[in-house]
Amino acid sequence: MELACLDLEGVLIPEIWIDFAERTGIDELRATTRDIPDYDVLMQQRLRILREHKLGLPDIQEVIAGMSPMPGAREFVDWLRERFQVIILSDTYYEFAQPLMRQLGFPTLFCHRLEADEQGMIVNYHLRQKDPKRQSVKAFHALNYRVIAAGDSYNDTTMLSEAEAGILFRAPENVIREFPQFPAVHEYKDLQAEFLKASNRELTP
Ligand SMILES: [Mg+2]
Repeated sequence: MELACLDLEGVLIPEIWIDFAERTGIDELRATTRDIPDYDVLMQQRLRILREHKLGLPDIQEVIAGMSPMPGAREFVDWLRERFQVIILSDTYYEFAQPLMRQLGFPTLFCHRLEADEQGMIVNYHLRQKDPKRQSVKAFHALNYRVIAAGDSYNDTTMLSEAEAGILFRAPENVIREFPQFPAVHEYKDLQAEFLKASNRELTP
């Protein structure tokens, strides 16, 4: 029994915070964990900026609905779902991902949750658990699934290591260099080939 686990941002859709900052022109929202390594400090700052700009969840979701998956992502997900049970393991939030998941045909998504007040203002965020991608793969193993995983960044590497096969997709050079044990590809057709190679079944290309 095989599962395919995919990261979301950077693999199927653009980085939501960066795209959102560009679309709203709010430059401060471009900050990432590279600028502010403490994730809680970063998230509290993001929520403060959203409140200052009076952006509640409905406004945010409207902006996100204008975003699109990466070209070819939908076709890739459809191809993969014909051959594997697919689960997306992401560090985004359900409330943000929803409009983009619609465009991907609503594949199964495991991620985090935001808390909003009656006015729709986001007041807090709730991470599902620590190291959620690795923990998910471990749980799938306990259910007797073999896991093939693909991701683009540092927050995916524990998932890739835990899986029977890990693949880097459109990863930056430093990640590729630091994790030479994972094949690194940049096009969906090559990613498909890696999934076929990693499978223990005879699948049609
Ligand atoms: Mg990513």
